[in-house]
Amino acid sequence: MAQVSLNNVRKVYPNGFEAVKPASFRIEDGEFVVLVGPSGCGKSTMLRMIAGLEDISDGALTIGDRVVNDVDPADRDIAMVFQNYALYPHMTVAKNIGYGLKNRKIPAADIAAKVQEAATMLNLTDYLDRKPSQLSGGQRQRVAMGRAIVRDPSLFLFDEPLSNLDAKLRNQMRIEIKALQRRLGVTSVYVTHDQVEAMTMADRIIVMNAGRIEQIGTPAEVYHSPASTFVASFMGAPPMNLLTGRAEAGRVRVGNVMLHQHHEDRDLTVGIRPEDIIPDSHGHLEVEVTLIEELGAHRLLHGQMQGHPLTIHVGKDHPVETGHIRAAIKPNAVSLFDPASGVRL
Ligand code: ATP
Repeated sequence: MAQVSLNNVRKVYPNGFEAVKPASFRIEDGEFVVLVGPSGCGKSTMLRMIAGLEDISDGALTIGDRVVNDVDPADRDIAMVFQNYALYPHMTVAKNIGYGLKNRKIPAADIAAKVQEAATMLNLTDYLDRKPSQLSGGQRQRVAMGRAIVRDPSLFLFDEPLSNLDAKLRNQMRIEIKALQRRLGVTSVYVTHDQVEAMTMADRIIVMNAGRIEQIGTPAEVYHSPASTFVASFMGAPPMNLLTGRAEAGRVRVGNVMLHQHHEDRDLTVGIRPEDIIPDSHGHLEVEVTLIEELGAHRLLHGQMQGHPLTIHVGKDHPVETGHIRAAIKPNAVSLFDPASGVRL
């Protein structure tokens, strides 16, 4: 069983920079958790602390039932897949996949069987005699996965494993990795700055910002109930519309538009996802559409409402043109945030 627990784990680099503020969370056995956030938010530092490649400054890290703060990376029963694959260029695919086992003094016949099994799983059986330079990016990534799989670890750690691949291959590989993880049932922590990867692969997402955890939740929770304006604008492309509003007499107002939401009298930031606004000739939002972005399966209407920039997502069959339109908001689709802190109310 490989649960992972962090109890107030913190990282201060020798220059005094606090890259990870005290963080506490627990990853369940077999769970696929994605750490996501913008460049520099501390997600790689967090992963590297779990891997043992970076010292932990404070707090306790538990993998399985052992506190591993001072345990060597090699003794943590983990396998890591990196962005640059870290393959040995002079070795064949088979040797690359089996390398970690050779070091463990496992008999050659057993290694060959395990390599064969992993290669079958990863569709690499035709490439076992090739060198990494004779493979495509996606195939190299699979070799790196194979090397992790044969070690039979209790924890997989992925550090932006798909960022060197083109967009199409990334989409394909993220499905492959997710399917493989499901099949093997190995607890996994996956770092990416790509919110689509996080949404599509994770059982739970941990959103980080400036060394701090902003939210931990399922993809649906993080998307539909963002804990802060940071999460609202980081998750989702295009991001959530954030409008300046005010609650008065039980109603939330943006400019002179009343939204049917009750709250104490106060200033607010009002968040609405682009797909939760629907063009509707009886709607009470008045939107000036200035640009239409055609995306094949759907369209994005960019414009203004009451002086706020606003994006609306519509299906491909929706007739649209620029200019003045009316729109309505789907029921229960409004998120409210404190304007000063950005925290969800
Ligand atoms: P990216 O997506 O760009 O890799 P990240 O979220 O993974 O970013 P980290 O690599 O964890 O970010 O770095 C977090 C912060 O810690 C950054 O501001 C970085 O500059 C800083 N940092 C990283 N390594 C060190 C170091 N050895 N000494 C001091 N600061 C460091």
